[in-house]
Amino acid sequence: MSNTNLDITKIRKDFPILSRKVNGKPLVYLDNAATSQTPQQVIDIIVNYYSNYNANIHRGVHTLSQEATDKYEEARQKIQTHFNAKKSHEIIFTSGTTHSINMVANGFTSLLQKEDEVIVSALEHHSNIVPWQMLCEKTGATLKVIPMTEAGELDMETYDKLLSANTKLVFVNHISNALGTINPIKSIIEKAHAVNAAVLIDGAQASPHIKTNVQELDVDFYTVSAHKMCGPTGVGILYGKEKWLNKLPPYQGGGEMIAEVTFEKTTYADLPHKFEAGTPNICGGIAFGAAIDYMNSIGFENIAAYENDLLQYATNKLLEIEGLKIYGTSTQKTSVISFNIGNIHPYDIGTIVDKLGIAVRTGHHCAQPIMDYYNIPGTVRASFAFYNTKEEIDIFVEATKRAAQMLS
Ligand SMILES: *Cc1c(COP(=O)(O)O)cnc(C)c1O
Repeated sequence: MSNTNLDITKIRKDFPILSRKVNGKPLVYLDNAATSQTPQQVIDIIVNYYSNYNANIHRGVHTLSQEATDKYEEARQKIQTHFNAKKSHEIIFTSGTTHSINMVANGFTSLLQKEDEVIVSALEHHSNIVPWQMLCEKTGATLKVIPMTEAGELDMETYDKLLSANTKLVFVNHISNALGTINPIKSIIEKAHAVNAAVLIDGAQASPHIKTNVQELDVDFYTVSAHKMCGPTGVGILYGKEKWLNKLPPYQGGGEMIAEVTFEKTTYADLPHKFEAGTPNICGGIAFGAAIDYMNSIGFENIAAYENDLLQYATNKLLEIEGLKIYGTSTQKTSVISFNIGNIHPYDIGTIVDKLGIAVRTGHHCAQPIMDYYNIPGTVRASFAFYNTKEEIDIFVEATKRAAQMLS
C-alpha cells in the first residue's frame, strides 16, 4: 500500500489516453516532464468551446463573443488566484514558457547597456539560455553562468561572487527538467534584489508539482506552460510585476495590443493587452483554467507526497540494476530520474522499452550544458506524474533490466 490520500484508480479513469495500448502493451507513460496527459474534464472544456461558443474575443458585441471573452478572462483570474498574483493584468497569456521568456528577453533589449551583466544557471533548458545569449549579443551585456555541482545543484557560493552592481537580470529555472533539482529560488531572488537586479524564474517544470506563490517569492517574472500541468499545448503565461510590465516595450505589433493607431503614432493598450497582439489561443486559455481547477481538485500537497513516494520507490528499484548511474542526486528533487547504464547509449534503451509500451525520454533534454558537465551524450529520463503507479514503475524497471541485458 502506498502512503497517499489519492484514489489513483479513480484518477487514472480521468485520463482516456492511459487506457490505450502501445505496441500491443498497456501504455506506461513516464515522459511527464516533456508533456503531461490531459484529463477528460479538460478535454470536455475544449469540445464545449468549439461546439458552443467559438468566437473572437474583446471585440464583438454579439453574444458568442461576449461568452468567449468572459470565459477567457475568468481563466486569467483563475490563473491569477492560483499563482497569487496581485492583479489579473499581471498575467499575460502566451504560447508557453519559451514565448514568455523571449518576451522578457526582447523587452530588456532596450533597457540594457554594455557594462551590464546577466546571470543564468548551468541547469537551464535551452529556452532559458538562447534568448539571453541573443539579448547579450544585441546589447553588448555579458552573460555569466552559475555553475552546477556533481549532485546537480547550483553552486550558490559562486552565485554570491557573480552578483554585483552591474547585475541587471538573473534567470534560473525553479526545477530542472533534466535532473529534477528544485533550486533555492527564494534565496536566489533575495540576493539578486539586494543588488537591484530583476529575476525571471522559469516555472515550466515546477508548476505541475508545486503551487507557487509569486507574491511571497517576490519574483519579478515567472513563466508557465499549460501542457506540463494537464492543459493543452501552445498556451501558457508570463507573470510579471506590474511595474516591470509597464517598463517593458511591447513584443509584437498587431491587433488587440493598441489603444489608437494613426500613421503618425500608435499608442499601446493597457496591460495585459499590450503584450497580447493578435487573436490568442482562446480555447487554450480557457482549458488552461480548467486544468488548474483539475489539479487543485486533486491537491498539490497530495500530488507532491505521492510523487515523492514514487520517486523514492523508483530510485531504489533502479539502483538495483548493475552499472546504473543516476544523474541529479539532490535531496531537493521532484519526480524525475535521469540515468545511464554503463556505456549503453540512452537512445537504445529508450527504443527497446518503447517496444514494451513504455514512454521515456532519451537525449540531452534541451539541456546540453548539463550533459557536457557530466561528459555524456544524454540520459534516459523517466518522469512521474500523480497518475503513475508503482506497478508501472515495476514494469519499467523490468523492461530496463531486459534492455540492459540485451545491449551489454
Ligand atoms: C518544458 C520546459 C520549457 C519549455 O516549455 P515550452 O512549453 O516548450 O515553451 C522551458 N523550461 C523548462 C524547465 C521546461 O521544463
